Amino acid sequence: MFNCPIRAGLIESLQTKVQQYPTIDNAFEHVEPLILEAFGAQRLSIFQRRSHHKDLVSRYKTGNDIREIKLAISTQSIAGYVAMAQQAVRINNPYNEKALNKVHNKLRFEQKFDRLRHLRTDNILCVPIKYKGVLLGVMELMNKEVDEFDDADEDLASKVSELIGEAYRYELGGTARPFDYLEYNAGLATDVLSKISINAAISDVIHQLGTEQGIPEARIHEALSVYFQVPFIDYFPNEYQLAQRNVKLSKSYLKRNHIVLLKDTLDRLVVVMYEPNNTSLLMEVENALGTDEYQLAFSLPKQILQYLGESNKQTALSKIDKIIDEIDVKEENGKSNELVPEGESAIARLVSNVLFEAKRLSASDIHIDPEYKRPTLVRMRVDGVVRDINEIPEIHHNAVVARIKIMSGLNIAEKRLPQDGKLTFTVAQQNIEVRVATIPTVVGEGIVLRVLAGHDAMPIEKINLAKHNLDALEKMVMMPHGILLVVGPTGSGKTTTLHAILGYINTPDKKIWTAEDPVEITQYRLQQVQVNPKIGFTFAKALRAFLRADPDVILIGEMRDKETASAGIEASLTGHLVLSTLHTNSAPETITRLLDLGIDPVNFSDACVGILAQRLIRTLCSNCKETYTPTETEMAFLHRHYGEEYLDELALTPQTQLFRPKGCKDCDSTGYKGRTGVHELLTMTPDLRALVYKGSSNTEIKKQAMQDGMRTLTQDAILKVLKGDSDLAQVQIISGAGIKPNSNE
Ligand SMILES: [Zn+2]
Repeated sequence: MFNCPIRAGLIESLQTKVQQYPTIDNAFEHVEPLILEAFGAQRLSIFQRRSHHKDLVSRYKTGNDIREIKLAISTQSIAGYVAMAQQAVRINNPYNEKALNKVHNKLRFEQKFDRLRHLRTDNILCVPIKYKGVLLGVMELMNKEVDEFDDADEDLASKVSELIGEAYRYELGGTARPFDYLEYNAGLATDVLSKISINAAISDVIHQLGTEQGIPEARIHEALSVYFQVPFIDYFPNEYQLAQRNVKLSKSYLKRNHIVLLKDTLDRLVVVMYEPNNTSLLMEVENALGTDEYQLAFSLPKQILQYLGESNKQTALSKIDKIIDEIDVKEENGKSNELVPEGESAIARLVSNVLFEAKRLSASDIHIDPEYKRPTLVRMRVDGVVRDINEIPEIHHNAVVARIKIMSGLNIAEKRLPQDGKLTFTVAQQNIEVRVATIPTVVGEGIVLRVLAGHDAMPIEKINLAKHNLDALEKMVMMPHGILLVVGPTGSGKTTTLHAILGYINTPDKKIWTAEDPVEITQYRLQQVQVNPKIGFTFAKALRAFLRADPDVILIGEMRDKETASAGIEASLTGHLVLSTLHTNSAPETITRLLDLGIDPVNFSDACVGILAQRLIRTLCSNCKETYTPTETEMAFLHRHYGEEYLDELALTPQTQLFRPKGCKDCDSTGYKGRTGVHELLTMTPDLRALVYKGSSNTEIKKQAMQDGMRTLTQDAILKVLKGDSDLAQVQIISGAGIKPNSNE
């Protein structure tokens, strides 16, 4: 160890890093590996002493596997004792009471943290972090791998802690007043702060510092974070969900006190408050939650209320609000009855603006939801997720519904039965087709509008198939006959993929027929047919018509019944390439589903060339996504879900970086923008065919398919995370929800 060059140069290299990264938040991931290597230790934690709460909290630590640890400054824990005694402590085998007693007869070791981390602390070296004699926190090194921590280690650790204390004294120790840190991080002149009234509301001061002193908001937030000694949450990116379980606090209580309870992706509780130093409020919250295990964070009232569903009208669709105001003004003037046409035109513009906004956001669906004694909610599905966009005052609801019904040729008078229709509108010389469905609810007629894609086919290389999948798929669709199935739930991008395939094989020497419902994408030279089951024009009927119309390639929108499936298979056996879809979860499951329908296994396995299962996952906003080093838990997650036997394919190294969402203007602070496909491509091989003949189980089919090179949806999602397309939360969605437990996993 003594010859370790990193150890010899540790203080010097730390000094460089500290200069490079002026905040400990940014510095930690860079200094941590240096320190661990120099000491030959496994874990490093830096505890901060929080003056408002009179405790220690682990804010910077190796891995992210357990919640923030909060410790009393007492003999109840080793770090707590070090903070109390303000002297270094070294313990080998803290499970041994004698070793603890040697330090202090009441000293205890918190074994529960080892259990939570699934590891065992063998030895520990803990030193106080001080600046000019004032305790700021504690640095804890755990599990020296060779031998035990010795005198030389303790000396070096003291030097490291001195350096950290000096460099990050404000961040660790906090500041006396909310904005003091600005003098350090934003060069604010000392006299500015002294002129600010101590009673001024924080949000007023922020405004004043921003407009008069030109201080960027981010700096101001940093200063507040240092003052409160908790992280600042500026916006609520998608990694957080509102915590709803076991919450006894009413929404009005939360609003009144500016508190929002969130869960992060690992289901850990985060309490966000405007007054994180208000101990009595915090105790109320803890009592209601029944736990003190949570991460405390700070945010501003505006953001908190926005997250609680208040005042977000300002941000979106201000145009719509203006039109609504316009209508209201007319009604207040008492002329509304005489001026119906004018009022109607405002309603018409209101509806057009909703449609334009949907197009601007690339929404797939618009929901006009009537509510009981409340304004009508306008919601839109963007990238697969519904969000509230705006509200329309209750009194205008019927007028809006009537306007949409007129536009789509529906019966205005019929309000008790559901109706279907269509409307078209034009944006930038592009005709957008919208399917309209009205549904009578108990509080009024609701409307759901489906915005049809209306775009050109995507080139096959753009659908983000992994190289091995793209190569295999191109081979399959160049076959003169056979059946290829694209499977997945509604909204998994099947139509986009099928049209990409058709675009790839759409050459002058082929006649291609398609039967679709609806026809969303049109392509030159394809003959596309809209089926209409209402008049008996079904997929099966279209298919029979196509067979008399000299086809090479046939697309059948969906094979949901035995008749259509059998006819599709027959067609492929008689020399045509047939493409179709099925609502199944995975490629292997598709085979068993078809056989369950009563399809002949011999015919099917002879006809089938391949099955492509797919899903869409959200892609990270390329403007703001950030890289980070995955935690141990995340690495374990990758191992588990990719499967140890395939792991070599990922070529993971300790340097492997992942990406995570941040949020910016480009992505409406969500951190995500757009979606991409993940795929599972099963190739029909002779071995697999033999299994299908025999009527083998899902498990056996999957095993063989994977031996033949198939990779699961989850594995493909992991590949896309490593590529930087998406983040781990999206893999969790693929691997968990949506895959029914009838697979063998
Ligand atoms: Zn962004």
